[in-house]
Amino acid sequence: MSRSEAFPVVVTGGSRGIGAATVALLAARGHPVVFSYASNDAAAQALCDRVAEEGGQAVACKGDAADEGAVAALFAACVDRFGPPGGVFANAGITGPACGLDDLSAEDLRRVLDVNVAGSFLTAQAALRSMPDGGAIVLMSSRAGRLGGAGEWLHYAASKGAIDTLCVGLAQEAGPKGFRVNAVAPGLIETEIHAAAGRGDRLKTAGSSVPMGRTGTAEEVARTVAWLMSDDASYISGTIVDISGGR
Ligand code: NAP
Repeated sequence: MSRSEAFPVVVTGGSRGIGAATVALLAARGHPVVFSYASNDAAAQALCDRVAEEGGQAVACKGDAADEGAVAALFAACVDRFGPPGGVFANAGITGPACGLDDLSAEDLRRVLDVNVAGSFLTAQAALRSMPDGGAIVLMSSRAGRLGGAGEWLHYAASKGAIDTLCVGLAQEAGPKGFRVNAVAPGLIETEIHAAAGRGDRLKTAGSSVPMGRTGTAEEVARTVAWLMSDDASYISGTIVDISGGR
């Protein structure tokens, strides 16, 4: 892998939560970052402004991670503005409604699989196509992928199980082309994703089920993503890193 130290980075779902923490951290470390978001223009602009105030560079591209054309446009924006990315974080994801399988609509099931699974595949594919010298791909899994999400997130958990498979298989497929592919599997992280699914109380009540006795922060995930992207992780590929306080 031959990259400049300040290689450009693409992040999907980068305007809020874990994605935003990662954009801010990577930009503060000197990486120009191009990130996508779904709809919240104000949050995306606020992040770009914050990064600029801190002396970094971040560019927002509105677009659905599940849309092939939007993903291509996101990577094209990075190539045009900063050159080919050296790192990609396929982070965008949604939970869908919190409910048991018997109450899940086919439409909600398809949307979760489309954003989380197809979106990650399309992002990884765009990375392969736009990074001639290879680089580091970090995928967003979840501890739910192996815990199962019974009774509330089975659809979401299964989508993250697919990400684990993508990580292991793509690391083998793309390794000879100069790519390292890894995933992070966070546990209970303090972002708005829980409240958006009607489970805002979850972070307060579920913290006691974590061996470390607390929920995690978006910054704690961001630091792991930045490490996996960096040359400090130069011989790590095909690995899924749990960030869950032991849960
Ligand atoms: P969040 O706070 O809800 O932020 C989601 C971000 O993704 C926002 O920037 C949002 O944009 C963007 N986004 C949503 N759908 C998108 C789409 N279709 N296309 C492009 N961007 C999209 O979520 P989070 O908690 O940071 O979660 C980020 C990732 O971490 C997800 O894949 C999630 O499954 C995973 N994860 C989270 C936790 C946790 O406890 N928080 C645990 C394990 C894994 P807008 O602002 O425009 O909506």
